[in-house]
Amino acid sequence: MGLRLGQFRIDAIQAGLFRLDGGAMFGVVPKNLWATRVPNDEQNRIHMGMRCWVVRSEATGRIYLVDTGAGTKGDDKFRRIYALEDRDFLAEGLAALGLTPDAITDVVLTHLHFDHGGGVTRYKPGTTEPELVFRNARHWVTREHLETAKHPNQREKASFLKDNVEPLFASPLLSVAPDEGEAYEPGFGTIHVHGHTLGMQLPLLEADGKTLLFAADLFPTHAHIPLPWIMGYDMRAIDTLAEKERVLKRAHAEGWYVFLEHDAEHEVVTIGYDGRHFGAGRFLKLDEV
Ligand SMILES: [Zn+2]
Repeated sequence: MGLRLGQFRIDAIQAGLFRLDGGAMFGVVPKNLWATRVPNDEQNRIHMGMRCWVVRSEATGRIYLVDTGAGTKGDDKFRRIYALEDRDFLAEGLAALGLTPDAITDVVLTHLHFDHGGGVTRYKPGTTEPELVFRNARHWVTREHLETAKHPNQREKASFLKDNVEPLFASPLLSVAPDEGEAYEPGFGTIHVHGHTLGMQLPLLEADGKTLLFAADLFPTHAHIPLPWIMGYDMRAIDTLAEKERVLKRAHAEGWYVFLEHDAEHEVVTIGYDGRHFGAGRFLKLDEV
């Protein structure tokens, strides 16, 4: 079980399936194109996952959790809108790996949109008072993203739910993530991108001659690899375009493995290029990397 890469052991947890509007997921790409690649339901929604990583480092003893899914605080209406199940998949996934939330030393948050940072908090039993789930973990968010999450514009505001972010903002466990070019520890760096939201960090593991990227919302599904396939949710789509090109060139040239957080079906993909267009190369499970 799990993938060994140098001093790291990496496991994926599926923190739950949900559905988002297909039109919003593919921006300017018309439905008669995207629907040929990704099936949609009677409400025009596409199936998605919320995969997280657990990265255990033999070198430092740190146990990192990368992203946390949507959490368990949503009420009936919220769960209906997004087709979320009322179940704590993240806690179950950790337990299956022999871990409790208290064992996590570091929560690396790519960004704080609800489907990434919702699992950071839960309601205290019998109340609607949120508390942090990972009581022993430093929670890493980039400086730019903290700024934008604390003072969101009207368009992005709905993605930052009060009960997800406020306990974190008030906590001494909140830490400013290393800059791009610095690292959590040798072999565990990040790429920072700003088109989806300011200061999204993408974990990048490099060991044993392999490179594994946690793509978060730069490539939410395999269908988002072609350059113009950009989410309508992105704040600065034109910046996403340039960021995708920069990452795709490197990922293709260096044979990276790209881990897909939101793809309902595929866990890992390589990058193909036919001389004109980038696209999905090979599909793999994480432990086949
Ligand atoms: Zn997002």
